[in-house]
Amino acid sequence: MASVPAPASATSAPSLKGTGAEVSSNGLVDNIHSFKASDLEIDLAQTQKPKPDLTGLAFGTVFTDHMLVVEWNSQVGWQRPRIQPFGNLSIHPACSALHYAVQLFEGMKAYRGADNRVRLFRPELNMNRMRKSAHRACLPGFDRAELLECIKKLVEVDEEWVPHSDSASLYIRPTFLGTEPSLGVKKPSQALLYVILSPVGSYFSTGAKPVSLWADSKYIRSWKGGTGDCKMGGNYGASIFAQYEAVDYGCQQVLWLYGDDHQITEVGTMNLFLYWTNEKGEEELATPPLDGIILPGITRQSILELAQKWREFKVCERYLTMSDLRHGLKENRVKEMFGSGTACVVSPVGRVLYQGENLQIPCQQENSLASRLMKELTDIQYGRTLSEWSLLV
Ligand SMILES: *Cc1c(COP(=O)(O)O)cnc(C)c1O
Repeated sequence: MASVPAPASATSAPSLKGTGAEVSSNGLVDNIHSFKASDLEIDLAQTQKPKPDLTGLAFGTVFTDHMLVVEWNSQVGWQRPRIQPFGNLSIHPACSALHYAVQLFEGMKAYRGADNRVRLFRPELNMNRMRKSAHRACLPGFDRAELLECIKKLVEVDEEWVPHSDSASLYIRPTFLGTEPSLGVKKPSQALLYVILSPVGSYFSTGAKPVSLWADSKYIRSWKGGTGDCKMGGNYGASIFAQYEAVDYGCQQVLWLYGDDHQITEVGTMNLFLYWTNEKGEEELATPPLDGIILPGITRQSILELAQKWREFKVCERYLTMSDLRHGLKENRVKEMFGSGTACVVSPVGRVLYQGENLQIPCQQENSLASRLMKELTDIQYGRTLSEWSLLV
């Protein structure tokens, strides 16, 4: 067979030359043509909305008074960043984010401590992940430190919206859209990056309750070579159908399986951990490796790093299959299973419906690993434990 030279983009990152995103092989070299926080223009809202009562408030339904907006186009690059009154966007009906899901987002939180100071949790990791998603979506690069500085400024402007509570928080939703105003499937020549803020109540009221999962290989969330390792909107819109089928089966969320061996990958929009005695008899905390189909969660990374530091049991990234889980349960080796993510930190799993069988997962409320991790992480987030993972706004 004659050898055909591989296209340049098959061996290296696709060229983003001229998009303002000259990206190195790791996709993370900040681009000096980025917008700058020192150029921020601030247009304060004339009126302020009343702050809602957060008890029983549905996630992400109330927004603060301001938003950060930064526009980009291929002719002039990034415009000056603006903090402006929260309001609707005006978007061309052919906008590529709307037609082809040229889009991505992030999810992070600001927490108010007992000392009344507002903190972010490892936000530079969100900036890294956002840059990677932007690269994959063919959206322009930006300087991560500059965006973080703009976000800090936005949170400062809406500081009173950070709940005065040791369990509620202000959810931060950076969003990046391709706003190409034409129907060609191509790299956008225009883009819009914006950040909105939404106060969210405590997850403790419902979060401590174990969730039930529907495990079926009928739908897959993510695949090798796909975008499941990026927070791109299309991944989530496409998952809603399966979520409702899970509910039809009497379960709360989907346990996403992958491959003929039914690997356990993620739960709903959370990473997944199994705490058990493994097949070699070792006490182990395990989560699937970042092999391209797993979203690299910041809570996931933090749990791995914390548990490694404890040196109390084996901590590892490894493949886990439904057969591993079933055998583990049969032999009473499973201690706990839980999801992890910014929204709820950790969420214990109580039951998995798989091949018509209800697998009961042990989940003691007291002295569980999940509750210990919850405490350690929230202590850092709310400034009760001093940590370099915490960044003052
Ligand atoms: C956001 C997300 C997570 C959790 O990531 P965190 O950074 O911990 O919030 C896990 N899985 C999916 C699919 C996600 O979208």
